[in-house]
Amino acid sequence: MDVSEGIVDSAPLDSMDEWEDDLLERYPTKDHVFRDYASEVRPTVKEFYRLNHTYQTHEFVKAKKEQYCTLNTRKMSVWEAMEFLNTLVDDSDPDTDATQIEHLMQTSESIRADGHPRWFILTGLLHDLGKVLCLYGEPQWAVVGDTFATGCRYSDKVVFSEFFESNPDSKVPEFQTANGIYEPGCGFDKVDLSFGHDEYLYHVVKDYMPPESLYMIRYHSFYPWHREGAYDHLASAEDRQMLKWVKEFNKYDLYSKVDERPNVEKLRPFYEDLIAEFFPAQIRW
Ligand code: FE
Ligand code: FE
Repeated sequence: MDVSEGIVDSAPLDSMDEWEDDLLERYPTKDHVFRDYASEVRPTVKEFYRLNHTYQTHEFVKAKKEQYCTLNTRKMSVWEAMEFLNTLVDDSDPDTDATQIEHLMQTSESIRADGHPRWFILTGLLHDLGKVLCLYGEPQWAVVGDTFATGCRYSDKVVFSEFFESNPDSKVPEFQTANGIYEPGCGFDKVDLSFGHDEYLYHVVKDYMPPESLYMIRYHSFYPWHREGAYDHLASAEDRQMLKWVKEFNKYDLYSKVDERPNVEKLRPFYEDLIAEFFPAQIRW
């Protein structure tokens, strides 16, 4: 397969937020019903998943982890990363869509409003900073999208699983069993999920945040597991125990998008203090 074929149209989404807007529509609540999902998926979202499912091979994931999760790309403070992420040019309507910092603060402020501990509030602020991958030049399909397991049989619980047919891994015999190259119950820590902003940020913050926070960060896009119950045969006892934290986090991530836009400058001192409580001035990215 010619990967350059995919590069031409590597940005089908108007902005990365379009993936999350679609999630909100796929997983409505009684307070947030948007439309009949199955009948009206946006063509841009469908094309995004076609690219994601076609090009995220096991080998690709290994290579991207080697490239980014060794943290040799740059050094910056957490606040600098937030400002850097905010430079993402967004083709969608700037009057109605929250900026990247605003989404982070909507998430953290809704966690804070529910009286959760400081590490949980900070998790909300951090959780999407891995999207700076886009600013390093990575295509949308390598940064966002629901994550799925590579190196084993694809789950039909993954959205648009029919597109996996064009992934070269679907022709690799050892990847065609339920466990593939893994031991049953080995835990997701041992499984190479499709690469994206979750895995990258997990490595960036893993020395600084508590285990529950790291779990939420690393698996917040793993909708096939935390929403659909897929890949349970690969989960460990620890994964099952941590599942409640990802689910708890997910409601703030998805459903705070409809909240009021936060006043970033007013909130900044609170968050600068919170960041300083957990992080040194500069960290490796
Ligand atoms: Fe995210
Ligand atoms: Fe998010």
